Amino acid sequence: MREIVDGVFELGLGFVNVHLVVTDDGVVLIDTGLPRRSKQIERGLREIRKQIGDVRTVLLTHNHFDHIGNVADLRQRSGARVFAHAADAPVITGAIRPEVKGLLPRLIGKVMTAEPTKIDQLITADESEPIPGFTAVHTPGHTRGHVSYLLDRAGGVLFAGDTAGGGKDGTLVSGPKQVSADPAEQDRSVAKLATHNFEHAVFGHGRAMSGRAVERFREYASALPKD
Ligand SMILES: [Zn+2]
Ligand SMILES: [Zn+2]
Repeated sequence: MREIVDGVFELGLGFVNVHLVVTDDGVVLIDTGLPRRSKQIERGLREIRKQIGDVRTVLLTHNHFDHIGNVADLRQRSGARVFAHAADAPVITGAIRPEVKGLLPRLIGKVMTAEPTKIDQLITADESEPIPGFTAVHTPGHTRGHVSYLLDRAGGVLFAGDTAGGGKDGTLVSGPKQVSADPAEQDRSVAKLATHNFEHAVFGHGRAMSGRAVERFREYASALPKD
């Protein structure tokens, strides 16, 4: 695990990142990785001298299997409260099957399905404070109910989910658009995030960035076609 800023850790599970945040009220997980990887998350917790019962909150960015893979198991064993946007909820709870774009993702999705779970708190507002210190920003496009989270720490840490990604050379790249519900709307959501302020940004896929990360979101937004 890598510490991004004080008490914010990044755990890579294959091609996807899970983030752990140590707060005064236990550990907050942002997303839960690929299915059947709970053990690796527990190992990450042990690395920072925490255990499964210390996880109080799981904030989900969106309903793709590589982000909700262990949420059912973790919720059950930790008693954590799970937050997700209402528009993404039916897939997470198993009420409807996920709509997957593209042949390869569809094949992978057939093998890798996340166990459904109950959601404790639905996010419905454009911006809300699900738990102290965090702001949830609705960033639709990748999925209709995609949410990014801003943590008020170290000048601001953005958990961008799949709305954007971290490039190898510290650049901002678009999120995995081939599986996005609405790529143009996803770009508008990057522009929306650019109106906030944060020093650091972490992603579902790719490298974390530090040092006026928001500026790279602003550059990305200013290069978008104007309509
Ligand atoms: Zn995704
Ligand atoms: Zn993803």
